[in-house]
Amino acid sequence: QCQTPDDVLRVISEKGIAFIDLKFSDPFGQWQHLTIPAHEFSAESFENGIPFDGSSIRGWKGIQESDMLLIPDPKSAFIDPFIDDPTISLVCDVEDPITREPYNRDPRQIAKKAIEFLKSTGIGDIAYFGPEAEFFIFDDIKFVNGPNIAYYEVDSIEGWWNTAREEMPNLGYKTPYKRGYFPVPPLDKMFDIRRDMVKTLEEVGITVEREHHEVGTAGQGEINFRFSDLVTTGDNVLKYKYVLRNVGYRHGKFVTFLPKPIAGDNGSGMHTHFSIWKGGENQFAGDQYAGLSEVALYAIGGIIKHGKAIAAFTNPTTNSYHRLVPGFEAPVRLAYSARNRSAAIRIPMGSASPKAKRIEVRFPDASSNPYLAFTALLMAAIDGIENKIHPGEPLDKDIYSLPPEELANVPSTPASLQEAIDALKEDMDFLLKGGVMDEDFINMWIETKQEEVDAIRLVPHPKEFELYYDI
Ligand code: GLN
Ligand code: MG
Ligand code: MG
Ligand code: MG
Repeated sequence: QCQTPDDVLRVISEKGIAFIDLKFSDPFGQWQHLTIPAHEFSAESFENGIPFDGSSIRGWKGIQESDMLLIPDPKSAFIDPFIDDPTISLVCDVEDPITREPYNRDPRQIAKKAIEFLKSTGIGDIAYFGPEAEFFIFDDIKFVNGPNIAYYEVDSIEGWWNTAREEMPNLGYKTPYKRGYFPVPPLDKMFDIRRDMVKTLEEVGITVEREHHEVGTAGQGEINFRFSDLVTTGDNVLKYKYVLRNVGYRHGKFVTFLPKPIAGDNGSGMHTHFSIWKGGENQFAGDQYAGLSEVALYAIGGIIKHGKAIAAFTNPTTNSYHRLVPGFEAPVRLAYSARNRSAAIRIPMGSASPKAKRIEVRFPDASSNPYLAFTALLMAAIDGIENKIHPGEPLDKDIYSLPPEELANVPSTPASLQEAIDALKEDMDFLLKGGVMDEDFINMWIETKQEEVDAIRLVPHPKEFELYYDI
């Protein structure tokens, strides 16, 4: 674990590192990279940065002001396990080369500003995040009807039944529908691949706590790693996705974080555990409901109040909303509860220790940019705490089976990306506080997401052929 530029330079010379791979997050949470030979890299690179053209990055600058600087973070250094030549990776922040200010559309800089803002409020000095990003491992994805159709066939539930039927009477070692959680091998056919993923994650400095097959029949999995502060956890989520995809690729498999790849089976969420600390004390532990503090209840109140606008960042794809439906362990209501996995916010009761007290926000998914998803949650929590927004009574019942009258006052999660971005348009002040996000950035986000909604709206859906083709 490097701390300073000198540490990184020492590793480069001691390990005979030939290349430096500079990685940074685009607004939508995809790592981009630029590689330079070691002889072009020095202590000055940390000071002066490495120039690059930002105009071709989706959602970034116009061509007329395209020069930007990458500033490597020495603490993020890791030896890249997927490149044969000895290569060190560094995660970078993005700066404007003239003003040397943080670039306002760099999500990692936004996350850093969120923490500065948290400190300035006096509410806390650190926010911990622990995400559980689920995923599917598929053999391949066959595009049907040509490359322009936004529809593909995967190892679907129907596919499973068809295969099973063809192979009758031998149903041995086939995971029954919704029973992926979590029989031993040979039913768990993804065990070897997940083991490889875990070993590689640990090699690159991520501490894994557990891994398992998930409920989804067609190779759904989950690997949990140690929580950390907002920026480090943002880095870790992108590293996690990088490792999982590349290990999958080496096994000839495709790893996807698409929230709902298969209709009728469980989707993939990114439940996010979250607490705020101050002076080494957990501000979320107390003697209120489920061992929470009043501060934690207000944080929940803020997340519920701003839930629909938050979703534009935590659930930022049109596909995200196929997951937030009843019956698949994903939340459909913005409610909170200690026991209830159908609520948007659950208070884990596994440990009695005040240090472990936290809330689990269950609506986010891993199609989000983690820096922005966590920032949006933190900013809503701060707003709730500052304005003492009480979340009302907890909802300790199975929300999927409650009659409508009992749910009259419980807000829903958004039904579509359109609803989420419309909510964000009306409710963005909590994100603008302290200059954490600015209107330029949020407007870019809304415009891009609107384009995605419209792109889908222009394409006839395969289901429509089933429903209406012969009408
Ligand atoms: N896959 C479920 C979701 O979409 C969660 C399943 C679980 O971890 N209990 O959120
Ligand atoms: Mg889990
Ligand atoms: Mg899970
Ligand atoms: Mg969970």
